[in-house]
Amino acid sequence: MDINDLSIDNLVKLYDLDLFELGDMAHSIREDIHSNKVYFNVNRHINPSNICADICKFCAFSSHRKNPNPYEMTKEEILGDAASAYNRGAREFHIVSAHNPNYPYAWYFDIFKTLKDKFSDIHIKAMTAAEVDFLHRRFNKSYENILQDMQDSGVDSMPGGGAEIFASEVREKICKGKVDAQNWLKIHSIWHSMGKKSNATMLFGHIESKEHRIHHILEIRKLQDKSDGFNAFIPLLYQRQNNFLNVKKFPSGIEILKTIAISRILLPNVPNIKAYWATLGLNLALVSQEFGANDIDGTIEIENIQSAGGANSKRGINKDELISQIKDAGFIPVLRDSLYNEIESY
Ligand code: SF4
Repeated sequence: MDINDLSIDNLVKLYDLDLFELGDMAHSIREDIHSNKVYFNVNRHINPSNICADICKFCAFSSHRKNPNPYEMTKEEILGDAASAYNRGAREFHIVSAHNPNYPYAWYFDIFKTLKDKFSDIHIKAMTAAEVDFLHRRFNKSYENILQDMQDSGVDSMPGGGAEIFASEVREKICKGKVDAQNWLKIHSIWHSMGKKSNATMLFGHIESKEHRIHHILEIRKLQDKSDGFNAFIPLLYQRQNNFLNVKKFPSGIEILKTIAISRILLPNVPNIKAYWATLGLNLALVSQEFGANDIDGTIEIENIQSAGGANSKRGINKDELISQIKDAGFIPVLRDSLYNEIESY
């Protein structure tokens, strides 16, 4: 088949190819760019609150869904967690929150600025486009204004969350009311125009079709052609527990690996494909490195969002264990910073 024919009808046929044929295609692209390195970082996830004004059906994290333990971290708790993680070597804080209607606008920027003042060499990756859109709706601020406030208070890059699946008929069923595809892409486009980097995700394995996935990947490719600001694409596997989405059929390991491989093949302009171990499990994330992925994310330390949905990621992973597992899989573990500069290989 001709992968230069970018119609969805054509590209969805990639799923009909044999897994190993697809894997070979994806692996040779990843080898050309990254040889046999697997990137990881030492990071700390901080989720300040699970109280949410939105009602995404796939979500197990929000206290408004099936997880009846609402919390709001105090500034002191956030700083305390950040300090202990920093002292253990974390150089990225990945800060993502539910859309808490109780927080005043300045709350977010005060946290970022305080963290940046205290830990000057930390990389702050914070605020999904869905959170930016929430602040826009709640406080009647323009996207430009919010993104400028993020930059001014020390946010270095944006995570890729909130993209889910771009097709409106799917969003209507799984995350009605949250940022739509057009605005998710617009927010990242503005952020990129400010000279900043971000990631892009795709939540798959729920009610979406293969065509929806291809459409989603192509939308990322189109924006990347214009803005060149995405560092990594992250296909996130839907976690099935503790939520209100009625999913009958889950993807097999083969389909998961095909989705990773297809992501690599269809995104020649995005440098990194991340197999996020917190959603795939470490073993499948390592196998994914043979099918186009070149990154596995990091140590995380505390993981609240995927683990609420059943993932075995609550306590993160020890750096030495991660290194040893990557080596055991036949790859070179490379510690990277948040922008994919290499720090050390093992
Ligand atoms: S996915 Fe995010 S926005 Fe949606 S309900 Fe969960 S926490 Fe709220």
